[in-house]
Amino acid sequence: MTVRQHSDSRGACGHQFAFASLHDFILVCLIRDPLMSSTSNTIVTRFAPSPSGHLHVGGARTALFCWAFAKGKGGTFVLRIEDTDQKRSSDAASIGFVKDLLWLGIDWDEGPIYEGCGGGDRGPYFQAQRLDIYRKYFDALLASGKAYYAFETTEELTALRDAAKAQNQPFRYTGDAARALSADKVAEFLKAGRPAVIRFHTPPNPITIRDEILGEAIIPAGETDDFVICKADGFPTYHFAVVVDDELMGVTHVLRAQEHFNNTAKHIVLQDALGFRRPVYGHLPLIFNPDGSKMSKRDKDKVLRKAIAERGITSPPPHTVDPALFAVWIKDKNVQLEIASATALASALGVVLPEINVDDFRRSGYLPEVICNFLSLNGWSPGGDLEKFDTEFLKSHFDLQRVVKTPAKFDRSKLLAFNLHALQVMPREEFVKKVAIHGRTFHPDFMARVTETQFRSLCDASQERSKTLDDLFRTNGFITIADDLLEWDAKAVKKVLQGTSPNGRDHLTAISKILAQCDDWSVQGLESAMKPYLETAAGGNLGTIAQPLRVALCGGTVSPPIFDTLAILGKASSIKRIDRCVAAHE
Ligand code: GLU
Repeated sequence: MTVRQHSDSRGACGHQFAFASLHDFILVCLIRDPLMSSTSNTIVTRFAPSPSGHLHVGGARTALFCWAFAKGKGGTFVLRIEDTDQKRSSDAASIGFVKDLLWLGIDWDEGPIYEGCGGGDRGPYFQAQRLDIYRKYFDALLASGKAYYAFETTEELTALRDAAKAQNQPFRYTGDAARALSADKVAEFLKAGRPAVIRFHTPPNPITIRDEILGEAIIPAGETDDFVICKADGFPTYHFAVVVDDELMGVTHVLRAQEHFNNTAKHIVLQDALGFRRPVYGHLPLIFNPDGSKMSKRDKDKVLRKAIAERGITSPPPHTVDPALFAVWIKDKNVQLEIASATALASALGVVLPEINVDDFRRSGYLPEVICNFLSLNGWSPGGDLEKFDTEFLKSHFDLQRVVKTPAKFDRSKLLAFNLHALQVMPREEFVKKVAIHGRTFHPDFMARVTETQFRSLCDASQERSKTLDDLFRTNGFITIADDLLEWDAKAVKKVLQGTSPNGRDHLTAISKILAQCDDWSVQGLESAMKPYLETAAGGNLGTIAQPLRVALCGGTVSPPIFDTLAILGKASSIKRIDRCVAAHE
């Protein structure tokens, strides 16, 4: 295959309506409204996820670019669910996808109806509900001899593959056996219920792919074999369904991940055989980890395996992973844990899993607008130094010319910095509202245990340094623990409570008495009450008293500013915790 960059064919959209035969003409008439989208200038893009698993950030980036491209040009954005793989698709996954898209702010004009989005008269938008439509096109291709039934069993195909491998040749299905069958024989086999697929008779010509981002590639004759278009279960393959639907749904621009670039050859030959338009293609760069590996679900398993090896763990912590599965998973690096098991294991080990899917980022407390901004920069740039922009800007500026060809590197620290900045500049009321929504969704127990005043004070104390909406919950767990159940981190105790006198414990003993006399339990009141002691006993160095207090109040050395922490906990709780800590570390 050769790829060459073209400079003058951008935007070229081949309209192929030269009917080779009456049959081809009939094929085109089967299309509900084939000419509408090609004669009007309306741009139509689509995002076409296969509903298995969760929406990966790469998929989200594709959806975002398709959305921005169509919306910015007054076009239509279609969501189509490609659920032709019956084994792998699920309704739960479809619902997860639409929810994730809406959370990101990506709405669709046509597609499944959900929360005010979707509808449209080119549906159904679930491919599994379009079998009758595909059938018409199968029949037309069969009748014209452009497709044929093939009856090879899995074993026969494996033998053919093995034979090609033995000769160091790539496997190409020749179709000799299938085409040697007479029409009567085929009818007889079908009547007898022999499992059959339908294969497309690929013409023996080179295929030219024009891509708005990658340029032009010529796939040599013979490279694309007679591929399956209808599976034995009667469902279309991805290649067939995508071609029929892109035509019938009036899709003018197909923007999708680069991994589909080679598939385009198959789509083009099918479009030609069916007399369809050729949409404009643009294949988007993949998103990689900074080390050049593909960002995938496996990254979570990698992190868990590393933690387990480092700690010499041989059996799973209780209520995490089934022990038998754990043993298989440890041995075989290709086995992946389900998200629920991986999450349970991570929380038992205290390990943070890398976010891969949109839902992971949501759980981790990233803002959808920040994710969209950051994803836009993974493969596109508005030019100049501009990095921070919203989706309105993206809509009005997105173009294919500025999409890069090379893989994008997902820089997590940059994303975190973007999120921190967005949270810092957010009006306080909005911050409180967003953290509360995040808390109710992902930390209901925490929310149930804090009073409104405490929650508000936590927000006041955290906003400036919160990198995510989740930070407040991760760093303030101390507040939800009963006073007499708080445990102290041994390292922190050693470091800040013990040692030569006056040590942290001595300070706590004195501070407890001062606090008992304090009637104004506000941040300012506490500051004034502590001031004389701070000056005389700690030489004005707040850390000298703040660190022992933190250990006593929170169990470790991390908490909001110390006077906020005292104010949030309240007088009774604070003094109880300090006294208990002093007593426990005689
Ligand atoms: N269902 C395909 C996927 O999820 C869509 C590919 C395409 O956009 O054509 O990768």
